[in-house]
Amino acid sequence: MAELFVPQTLDEAVGFLESHAGSATPIAGGTDVMIDLRTGGVRTEWLVDLSSLGSLAGIDLDGEQLRLGALTKIRALEVDSRLARRATALVEAARVLGSVQIRTMATLGGNLCHATPSAEMPPALLVHDAVVEIAGAAGERSLPLADLFAGPGRTTLEPGELLTAVRLRIPASAAGSCYLRQTVRWSMDLAGVGVAASMEVDGAAIVQARVALGAVAPVPLIVPEAAEAVVGSELSPATALEAGARAAAACSPISDVRGSADYRRAVVSILVQRALRIAWLRATGDWPEGLLAPINGLLAEEPA
Ligand SMILES: Cc1cc2nc3c(=O)[nH]c(=O)nc-3n(C[C@H](O)[C@H](O)[C@H](O)COP(=O)(O)OP(=O)(O)OC[C@H]3O[C@@H](n4cnc5c(N)ncnc54)[C@H](O)[C@@H]3O)c2cc1C
Repeated sequence: MAELFVPQTLDEAVGFLESHAGSATPIAGGTDVMIDLRTGGVRTEWLVDLSSLGSLAGIDLDGEQLRLGALTKIRALEVDSRLARRATALVEAARVLGSVQIRTMATLGGNLCHATPSAEMPPALLVHDAVVEIAGAAGERSLPLADLFAGPGRTTLEPGELLTAVRLRIPASAAGSCYLRQTVRWSMDLAGVGVAASMEVDGAAIVQARVALGAVAPVPLIVPEAAEAVVGSELSPATALEAGARAAAACSPISDVRGSADYRRAVVSILVQRALRIAWLRATGDWPEGLLAPINGLLAEEPA
């Protein structure tokens, strides 16, 4: 049975983790760690409870700069009306994570640091070029979110380091994003495929786009070549189709209980097209502000 250490400050937490490297594990909401402890996935002498470090929680929006504390609850992201308007993919990802009970405990930092390939939040953050802030005994550093993931269940955090926040830019206008997923069951199931898309438009042309995938590679993936297929003109069924094909070619899904690799590739192609279309409608003002999309993005009127 692990002992509990409850630090009162970030320095105290980092110091304890540093001096107990290899025998102490951070715990935030505990929705992953408690299961890992029971299944033997984590063996540790100390749990370092981050939940009293209130300064690591919070959603700060300053102009186009958004900073999310690592201890921010997934539920807090889900119900934030500013994010629903300006960073809809984040809210669409948060609302499908587990259940309300899980989302009320689960933190953003825990979702990222558990490094589950199918985790909901990474793709939705990657399409905003998110950067993570990290604190360790040696000081603070930041790195692009994509560089945090080293493989299933593995991050590039050094022993003793903590994720403290995520920074991203959310454009104030002429922009849209979307997160969609496929699951075998409609609730309380991990994603078989997760897809996020974002774009900025100028007039009738897409000037910047991003596509990111979850659950179809050992780490969450950004697929620049998929986004490039739609930049430079308005979104059309043909450019969206090309983007979907490029995303399907870029991923390397496994076959498991949630679907075969071939099926997942086919789903990637379809969800990328749908996510781009919804992001486009949002960016061009043709989508009701703050309205979330169906979870799989299927609209009544599908593109031909
Ligand atoms: C029933 C159920 C359903 C779920 N459904 C989904 C789902 O649909 N989609 C999904 O993505 N996830 C799902 N999850 C997984 C889980 O809820 C999320 O990954 C959650 O966001 C983890 O956050 P936490 O605060 O509970 O992390 P914890 O369990 O406290 O920690 C997770 C890991 O991150 C480390 N850690 C936590 N915070 C930090 C930090 N600040 N710095 C460094 N390391 C840190 C811990 O040491 C641990 O390794 C589900 C879990 C359950 C139990």
